[in-house]
Amino acid sequence: MPDLPAAPGVYEFIDEAGTALYVGKSVNLRQRVRSHFYGGARVGERLGEMLALSRGVRFQPAGTDLEAQLTEAERIIRERPPYNRALKRRATGWYLHVRWRDPFPRFRLAGRVGPAGSTSFGPFAGKHLPDRIRRLCEKLFRLRNCAGQITPARGHTPCVQFDLGLCTAPCAARVGVARYRSQARKASRFLSEREFGWEIRDRLERARDAAARALDYERAAAMQLRLKWLTELEELRWALDAEVPNRSWLILLPAADGAGYVLLPVAAGRLLRMRRPSGPVEALRTVFEDACYAVGVAELRATRPTGLEAVTSSIVRRWLEEGCPGGEAVDIDTQRPGLAVETALALTG
Ligand code: SF4
Repeated sequence: MPDLPAAPGVYEFIDEAGTALYVGKSVNLRQRVRSHFYGGARVGERLGEMLALSRGVRFQPAGTDLEAQLTEAERIIRERPPYNRALKRRATGWYLHVRWRDPFPRFRLAGRVGPAGSTSFGPFAGKHLPDRIRRLCEKLFRLRNCAGQITPARGHTPCVQFDLGLCTAPCAARVGVARYRSQARKASRFLSEREFGWEIRDRLERARDAAARALDYERAAAMQLRLKWLTELEELRWALDAEVPNRSWLILLPAADGAGYVLLPVAAGRLLRMRRPSGPVEALRTVFEDACYAVGVAELRATRPTGLEAVTSSIVRRWLEEGCPGGEAVDIDTQRPGLAVETALALTG
């Protein structure tokens, strides 16, 4: 086994012909590859089979986890290693959907758009953000989070969600179909229309103030808590505005050797060819100007992304959603690309 660095990168288990059997990435190559052999956990059947066939490990260091993820995706899609399955899910993205055919609809998180008769929100690059949105919507609009169909029965005892004031308990017929569906429609409208959030805020504030005037402090506190959830949701819902993830960017990451950069030009949410600029400021300026030009052309062409582009663009979108860990993203205004070039140069200075 080669002497692997304790740094981010991509590794490949190869067979005797040098063909990749499995490609993986890690923030710590040494630890990750060793864990396959000495991890202590029971080795699964497929992993055991792959290790038995493996005759060596190849690796490529990366400066950041994002670079490692993109390189891993590119290798898996180009080389199709027989023991990789992970990227199938990543290609499609995650969606929140509400199935209106269900008399008591609830929010579901799935790896595909909802079936006919559903409203879908997304795609989201990762699961974490839509899952937080789902949980906040359930609490704010008092929607059920229990799985399966429900058949309302008056004698039924609702679960703790009802006791906590987080569900109106259609299971126990505490609320009828029409009223419950109106709650679900409001939640769906909130995610589709930014202005509707202002209406809800106005109503909640008025209800809170009226409760306080009537000395009903318990209700006033409950309204205040819902206002807090509303604020959290409003902060998260930007991800649903199509134009935000679909903006154009110059993304700069430190290179693995510490001497240069990895430049990721993104045109309307779509990742273009990765570049590795280094050298004096004039050389960097030329690369940044070329990248902005390529972004402008790609925006005008607006062609359908290839399978690889769809996967890598989704990885970059998730990185942007997470607040750009380990790198910088410069917003490109294609009317004034010079601004992005100057900002990128300032970041490299
Ligand atoms: S109260 Fe009833 S409908 Fe609501 S989450 Fe619990 S079981 Fe489901």
